Amino acid sequence: MAEQWIYLDGEYVTKENAKVSVYDHGFLYGDGIFEGIRIYNGNIFKCKEHLDRLYDSAHSIQLNIPLSREEMLEAMAETIRRNDMHSGYIRLVVSRGPGNLGLDPLRCPKASVIIIVEELSIYPEEAYLTGLKTISVSQRRNIPDALNPKIKSLNYLNNILVKIQSNYVGAGEAIMLNSQGYVTEGSADNIFIVKNGTVFTPPCYLGALEGITRNAIIDICSELGYTLKEQPFTLHDVYVADEVFFTGTAAEVIAANEVDGRMIGTGAAGPVTLKLLEEFRKIVNLDGYKVWES
Ligand code: PMP
Repeated sequence: MAEQWIYLDGEYVTKENAKVSVYDHGFLYGDGIFEGIRIYNGNIFKCKEHLDRLYDSAHSIQLNIPLSREEMLEAMAETIRRNDMHSGYIRLVVSRGPGNLGLDPLRCPKASVIIIVEELSIYPEEAYLTGLKTISVSQRRNIPDALNPKIKSLNYLNNILVKIQSNYVGAGEAIMLNSQGYVTEGSADNIFIVKNGTVFTPPCYLGALEGITRNAIIDICSELGYTLKEQPFTLHDVYVADEVFFTGTAAEVIAANEVDGRMIGTGAAGPVTLKLLEEFRKIVNLDGYKVWES
């Protein structure tokens, strides 16, 4: 098997040698940010949008990324080239870097930058037709005035607790509510519902990451002439929806066939979900930054 090369603070190292300090505050405190990005046939999909979100997250937590956007893009492209990767997943991580055992970020002189590229297979292709069994969880989404979910931070414990609860019942994704009982998002995906031909997604201020796939789906809805409303809704609205689907970089567009034991629609991916997936898969090769000409 070919060697896997990882970018680590300006060097390209093998997976076995890709090690960070135990004093890194990303490790000690979850202090840092990340992006999950896809490359499709040599095209880094929505590259600009991912870099915008990374640099906005950094600005929000006063994290100084030691690379300019151009340097970050070049490091990403070079990692892809060194791994001969044409389609796969890219993980950018910027942690606060090594400091002392106190939590003060001023004691961390330099952020660490890590770029990993890998093959990706999250769901088998038939899951896009059958949909996923899903549940709602008792774990509430982090409230935006404590830790804003718009920051794509390394602190994913809120989401991991959701994953633990959904693993317990064998669910493929889970729905998080906010403290007022409004639907926010999944453990690692945004959520949409379809009712009588209208597509709904919760506004991010309720407590959701502003997903790049979410925004792409909103654009596709408008191109297809679907009515899309960003408005709060509850679990009841999810239970009685004609279709429920999740969006995310890794998952793309995937239906829920069941939520908390209530069958959704016909119990398989519905026509709007499948149409949006089809249109989404048409743009993934086009919209972004081309590392390789395919
Ligand atoms: N919400 C959360 C909590 C996520 O971690 C992600 C990313 N996997 C998403 C939504 C979807 O965002 P994107 O479409 O940008 O991948």
